[in-house]
Amino acid sequence: MRTALVTGGSRGIGLEVCRRLGTLGLRVLLSARDRQAVEQAADLLRRDGAQVEPVILDVTDERAIRSLSVDVDVLVNNAAVLLGEDDSVLTAPPEHFRRSMETNAYGPLGLCQALMPGMLRRRYGRIVNVSSGAGQLAGMTDYAPTYSVSKAALNALTLLLAHAGRGRNVLVNAVDPGWVRTDMGGASAPRSVGEGADTIVWCAHRPAEREHG
Ligand code: NDP
Repeated sequence: MRTALVTGGSRGIGLEVCRRLGTLGLRVLLSARDRQAVEQAADLLRRDGAQVEPVILDVTDERAIRSLSVDVDVLVNNAAVLLGEDDSVLTAPPEHFRRSMETNAYGPLGLCQALMPGMLRRRYGRIVNVSSGAGQLAGMTDYAPTYSVSKAALNALTLLLAHAGRGRNVLVNAVDPGWVRTDMGGASAPRSVGEGADTIVWCAHRPAEREHG
């Protein structure tokens, strides 16, 4: 049975990804910071028969990441914060830049550095970095500068990590879920969590690529 670790799995898109991966027969480690929220979410999914285990993990806690002692086959870097949507790049507090980068870019990087070597050894891994259209350089506006920079960094890291996995059946992708109705996306968003989770789950479960040349 393959094991998946999903960060930010206690609500929103991450919770739906956990539910779907559980239904597909994976053992799911559902993680986030808040113990009560993590345990309640895992209980909820277990009632549907999925094998889901709660894990308390703050993705900004480097020591906690380094001490993870589990073989993970599927990593979904979903946890993120959206700070200062109306900030200007000229006046955004350094604290917003720091927290956005730590949670949205360095957290996923730390998890990949901790878990991807095992995937490479076992010659199987699927890593999905949940990104955002806000992080796309082409068409970037003045929206949420600290969030946008962190997601652009995540996109760049995804390319570098994908190169590191090449030829070893470790596939690394970034996915933009679109504008989704969650605590982060708000009630006016057009997409459901199910729609937001679709491509993430597909990438997390995709078959091996045929190697060319
Ligand atoms: P939510 O705000 O609804 O959920 C965020 C999750 O991340 C929660 O489980 C939260 O739990 C967790 N989290 C936050 N900080 C940390 C941390 N330091 N360590 C571990 N867990 C953390 O977000 P969404 O479901 O809307 O977003 C999921 C992903 O989709 C994010 O990467 C987001 O950037 C991306 N996205 C979302 C869009 C949308 O419209 N909703 C649009 C584009 C991209 P807790 O705080 O308890 O730890």
